[in-house]
Amino acid sequence: MNSAYCQQCATPLAMAMMSGKQRARCPACGFVLWRNPAPVGMALISHEGKLVLIRRSESPLAGYWAPPAGYVECGESVPAAVRREALEECGLDIELDGLLGVYSQANVDVLIVAYAAHSRGGMLRAGDDAGDARLFDAFDLPSQESPAEGTATDLWLHGVIDETIERWRGALALPGT
Ligand SMILES: [Zn+2]
Repeated sequence: MNSAYCQQCATPLAMAMMSGKQRARCPACGFVLWRNPAPVGMALISHEGKLVLIRRSESPLAGYWAPPAGYVECGESVPAAVRREALEECGLDIELDGLLGVYSQANVDVLIVAYAAHSRGGMLRAGDDAGDARLFDAFDLPSQESPAEGTATDLWLHGVIDETIERWRGALALPGT
């Protein structure tokens, strides 16, 4: 991580006590390197009555089936990022139905905002950063073991995927939906 130099004036950063924590601070211009988890949007997409999962081709959890997800960029809202990622990763134009949950953990540097969604157009296909994209029956999902040698992020994401799928399934079972 390129955090040793000031982003504003390139002076080497020094650790300083600020707001109750040691933080990297520029002794020349006062710039503080605040470290915040990066927001990631995720969509549990219903398509033709089934759940869309993509096979992740990159870390964390490379090789695992997961809902499409990606980083929120400046210049877009979280819902817009989720719709963009769905189109990029699985080819579907989606509409969001509601928030499923917000997930974070102290030792993980991302924060996941998960939505239930449904497709309203497009064709299911695996995008650039997805190894595969497929439809799964709500009660016949791939069983995926917790990664034995995984990083904190791998283990956490594995749990988040399980929990979001459980919530998505619960939303399906609600009367009137
Ligand atoms: Zn500086």
